[in-house]
Amino acid sequence: MPEQDQNLLLEIKGLRTYFHLAEGVVHAVDGVDLKMHRKETLGIVGESGCGKSISAYSMLRLVPPPGKIEAGEILFYKTPKDGSTNQAEIVNLTKLDPNGSEIRNIRGNYISMVFQEPMTAMSPVRTVGQQIMEAIILHQKVSKEEARKQTIEMLRRVRMSNPERVIDDYPFQLSGGMRQRAVIAMALCCRPSLLIADEPTTALDVTTEAQILNLMRDLQDEFGMAIMYITHNLGVIAEMADNVAVMYMGRVVEQADVSTIFYNPLHPYTQGLHQSIPQLKDALSRKEHKRLDVIKGMVPDPYSRLKGCPFHPRCPKFIAGVCDEVEPRMVEPEPGHTVKCHLYG
Ligand code: SF4
Repeated sequence: MPEQDQNLLLEIKGLRTYFHLAEGVVHAVDGVDLKMHRKETLGIVGESGCGKSISAYSMLRLVPPPGKIEAGEILFYKTPKDGSTNQAEIVNLTKLDPNGSEIRNIRGNYISMVFQEPMTAMSPVRTVGQQIMEAIILHQKVSKEEARKQTIEMLRRVRMSNPERVIDDYPFQLSGGMRQRAVIAMALCCRPSLLIADEPTTALDVTTEAQILNLMRDLQDEFGMAIMYITHNLGVIAEMADNVAVMYMGRVVEQADVSTIFYNPLHPYTQGLHQSIPQLKDALSRKEHKRLDVIKGMVPDPYSRLKGCPFHPRCPKFIAGVCDEVEPRMVEPEPGHTVKCHLYG
């Protein structure tokens, strides 16, 4: 196996996840291609409804009905936890039974997820400790005493104050920040190779958000895991990500390293997102107030499937007769920087 492939952790090829509803078909994920390497932080960014979260749910085979993976592959490069070999077993997650033992062994053990709202991730009628211990006992087959010891240690690692008491608390007894720390402890208790963080700080105030981001970065270094960070917040992406994939209407439209996405965005949608970030220099300027640029129009109706480039009704660089007729292919105008746009075809 070539050296660069040994670091490959995840490869998504042509993933399509659709929802067949009475009103029509929602093409939530419509041909996503992505690659992730070990220990990398990949930021997935885009407006609400662009398919970020459904891509993650597809990976864990948690797409709620009537959603269905229609096409594509999700290849997970799984290496044994005991370190007996570096040779990865390639598991195509789309082929697994969503309720079968193989995906249950991967969920929470090799790939974990932290959700936006911790109350949806934790049961309100069981203590924090019971929920974390359950994951440890399920995947590590250890005694209850050992699982409790590991849970207290994990709560300490996520900098929970007084973990010996918190372990017997119910989620509703904790503050929002403490609940998110408990969810992170639950996600990391089996030391996964990949953590999917789906808007994990959106419901938190900015101070707690900064603490949680610092915590995740520190734990990533300590555990050597990769993080897929899903957000609509480019500020968080700038702080967290090594590489960024920009999604629009179920597709990845641009991918590059984080500084390229910020200093040399190519896709008009990425440029629009970038221009809609408030700039400190403008806020401090005493000159006439400058309005923020916005991307005109709205994300189209989810049932519609536009001909040509899906961004064309909103694009300031739209080429009539081309952009509304032909769907652009992914091209690589510079090494490591891919974009789906006719301007670079
Ligand atoms: Fe704009 Fe055309 Fe590029 Fe789409 S393909 S982003 S419409 S220029």
